[in-house]
Amino acid sequence: MAKDKNKNEITAKEPKDQSKKKKNTPRALPKKEGKADINEKRNAPKKSAPEKKDAPAFKVSAPQHKRRKKAGAKDLHGMSAAQKEAARLISLENKAEEKKQARAHAAELASKVSSPEKRGKRSEPPVHLKSHRHKGMKKPLGKLKVMCLGGLMEIGKNMTVIEYENDIVVVDCGLAFPDEEMPGVDLVIPDVSYLIQNADRVRGIFITHGHEDHIGAIPYVLQQLRAPIYGTRLSLGIIEGKLEEHSLPFHPALHTVEAGETVTAGAMRVEFIHVNHSIADACALAIHTPLGIVYHSGDFKLDVSPLDGQIMDLVRIGELGKEGVKLLLCESTNAERAGFTPSERTVGSSLERIFQQYESRRLIIATFSSNVHRVQQIINASYRHGRKVAVLGRSMINVIGAASELGYMDLPDGVLIDVSEMKRYRPEQITLITTGSQGEPMSALYRIAFSEHKDVKLASSDVVVLSAHAIPGNEKLIGKIVNALVQGGVKVVNDSVEDVHVSGHACKEEIKLLMALLRPEYYMPIHGEARHLYAGKEIGEFMGIPPANIFLSDIGKVLEIDADKAMLRGTVPSGKVMVDGAGVGDIGSVVLRDRKHLSEDGLVVVVATVDLSESMIMSGPDIVSRGFVYVKESEELMFEARCIVAKTLDGCLTRGMHDFVEIKAKIRDDLAKFIYKQTKRKPMILPIIMDL
Ligand SMILES: [Zn+2]
Ligand SMILES: [Zn+2]
Repeated sequence: MAKDKNKNEITAKEPKDQSKKKKNTPRALPKKEGKADINEKRNAPKKSAPEKKDAPAFKVSAPQHKRRKKAGAKDLHGMSAAQKEAARLISLENKAEEKKQARAHAAELASKVSSPEKRGKRSEPPVHLKSHRHKGMKKPLGKLKVMCLGGLMEIGKNMTVIEYENDIVVVDCGLAFPDEEMPGVDLVIPDVSYLIQNADRVRGIFITHGHEDHIGAIPYVLQQLRAPIYGTRLSLGIIEGKLEEHSLPFHPALHTVEAGETVTAGAMRVEFIHVNHSIADACALAIHTPLGIVYHSGDFKLDVSPLDGQIMDLVRIGELGKEGVKLLLCESTNAERAGFTPSERTVGSSLERIFQQYESRRLIIATFSSNVHRVQQIINASYRHGRKVAVLGRSMINVIGAASELGYMDLPDGVLIDVSEMKRYRPEQITLITTGSQGEPMSALYRIAFSEHKDVKLASSDVVVLSAHAIPGNEKLIGKIVNALVQGGVKVVNDSVEDVHVSGHACKEEIKLLMALLRPEYYMPIHGEARHLYAGKEIGEFMGIPPANIFLSDIGKVLEIDADKAMLRGTVPSGKVMVDGAGVGDIGSVVLRDRKHLSEDGLVVVVATVDLSESMIMSGPDIVSRGFVYVKESEELMFEARCIVAKTLDGCLTRGMHDFVEIKAKIRDDLAKFIYKQTKRKPMILPIIMDL
């Protein structure tokens, strides 16, 4: 499989010069509005615009293969000398004698220009030269396969696989949190057996952003799959931190990519496109395939006044639309919500009001540690109001450390203090930033609320701000904390009182805007439960995508696309792999069923020792139960149960039964019947019989 060297090699980017650290410290943006200075660091692609005339109002586009040809022709313009030469050589391909030579030469040249470069400098995908247009006349284009291993019909564990012939590109590698059907499970990751079976074709895992539902499974998946990882700086910074906690059998290759850059992955090229989201450095991915572009939205929102001044790269997205987007994979988290998601800046004004209103009180603000911009706004407001900031919670401390080191946060001198220094200040001079906005039982906020925190004791003058919205399923946990806080006399401010939180996900209008710019031929809503995906489908139809071109899929289902059609066809292995402690995947449905059984009805253990040769009971039977009945108040029941077991066991022995499996089954049956008759309960019964 690895015969063709060029094809199997991801042209890895040179490690970035560390001195070129991020320069986008937060700066006031609104002044510049209208002149959106997105991606000032890039050269805007200087393209002649032969396509202007075919930029109709959004409608489903003409067959993409036609448009693609056009785009190809246009692209021949700004080529480098090497690329022109390669193209010239290709034009000779029909001349029989020169054909072979030209191919070899073109491939060689193409490989020379295929390193990832900033957009605008590069002008033509080298892979086209190498493998497609070249053979294209005779060999038809191959098939594109797109499948999700997670993130469809469920929230979390996002993972998408895009496959063209011999090459596989993986987008994201996230985890999900267990639901009530999975007692004791710590987290859930996707089943990646398809990727393990095809490991030699996996060109890389491309990360859209650093949220757990997009990166959380990496340490587990890398145990079984040696794939390089590509992502922006903050994403990789967070991943590195995670990898340090796990010992991997090898040193994983992490490649930093900046928005605007493209990585060659076999016959595909993966372009990172800046988007806004509730974590910095988030990207969408445009995967350029020989069949056209697959646009993966990642998680995104459109924020026209973002704190870091970097607006989602609408210009580039519009260009991609003109080039011809074959398939749009768009996140659907907020597809049910009308309108636009408000800017992160609106939270800033709410925070300002809160700081003014509670001038004389200590503020404890809980939010997501990954929302660097939110944390920055809290720090800014504290600084303006002459407060010192103490940070609580391991993940919060880690992220603030990494983000400020990488230049994503700007910490005014002396604003941060250690928790131990708090006593040197009056309460109104302090802001505490903490984890626990989702009610997590181990979090700092939880421990504060239940007076279990060693450094922070609540006072009734404290104000707790929950700068987050409950992730579905966490409402009860959060409610528990809020109840504990108000019972302690603390004022609680949450998003039902003030706009202390905005979503990081696109609402209906933003999804429409993306569709209008991209004009995709096919569309598959991703990231969401059925209701979110259906809402996404409706938006697509509203925007004029024919229903037959919209695919509501499920994990493991394969969307197969060729030059003139697309269809859901076949499946690959997929599912939930449960992680419990150090065990990955060893918890299966049987274990879960047992755990559920135990958690619902408890356990009854029967212990006895027998002498099979003498057909005699030597000791017991004894009965021990857990979670079944309160034994002290059920002595009679337990006594009768012992009699039942003794009778059954005696019967078995006198009849000369020697098979322990049979004896145990008989005990289980008889005891279960008795217990159900007496209690209408069905505990798990576990007979332990030993032979002397
Ligand atoms: Zn996200
Ligand atoms: Zn997400």
